[in-house]
Amino acid sequence: MSCPRDGPAAPAAGRRRGQSPFPPGVGSVSTESAITLSRLDSRSPLVVDTRPLGRQAGSMRSEERVVPAPAPLAVGMAGVPEGSDIELSLRFEAVMEGVLVTGEARTRYTAECSRCLDPVSEALEVGFQELFRYPSDDDGYEPVDEVDAGDEDEDYYLEGDLLDLEPVIRDVVVLALPQSPLCRDDCPGLCAECGVRLADVDPGHSHGEDLDPRWEALRRLREDSGGG
Ligand SMILES: [Zn+2]
Ligand SMILES: [Zn+2]
Repeated sequence: MSCPRDGPAAPAAGRRRGQSPFPPGVGSVSTESAITLSRLDSRSPLVVDTRPLGRQAGSMRSEERVVPAPAPLAVGMAGVPEGSDIELSLRFEAVMEGVLVTGEARTRYTAECSRCLDPVSEALEVGFQELFRYPSDDDGYEPVDEVDAGDEDEDYYLEGDLLDLEPVIRDVVVLALPQSPLCRDDCPGLCAECGVRLADVDPGHSHGEDLDPRWEALRRLREDSGGG
């Protein structure tokens, strides 16, 4: 499966474990200066400031927000147009290791029917749950591979008090997009002979024996050599 990740996409935030941009100790104190050191922009629609939640394990907050779809959010013939609305229902829960985010994303994707190439637009609703770990500014962690090429076992990290939902939303939405979008379940597709949309013509649409004269000549030739 190819997943276009080039272009001016935001850096996969919160994933790098070894190099916290914060000097030791800063992570536990919420200050404005800590925020400005982060690579994340707290005003970005998919960045969440967890300070109202705090770090007391067990505290919880819910939030609804509507964000513009980041680009590219597509696979094959289906995608969520950049800038279109994604409605998010989010629940943030402080746990020992970090912030557990449980959410639901609702949006629409557009596509081309894989059988008849008609435009398709369908609602998409997908749930997710991810743990964003607190940045480790304590010692005692072992540096993992700096660049984790694989998408499996992806760990997310807070940057200071900020967490970036973009990689999470991107993964769940792209996974939920249909590999073979259909305009309707029983789309009959296109006629292999003439390319007409079979939904637009008689159910019995057929070219029968009325073959292309060139094929007809070939058939006759074969009959002749086969002895009839
Ligand atoms: Zn179709
Ligand atoms: Zn036809």
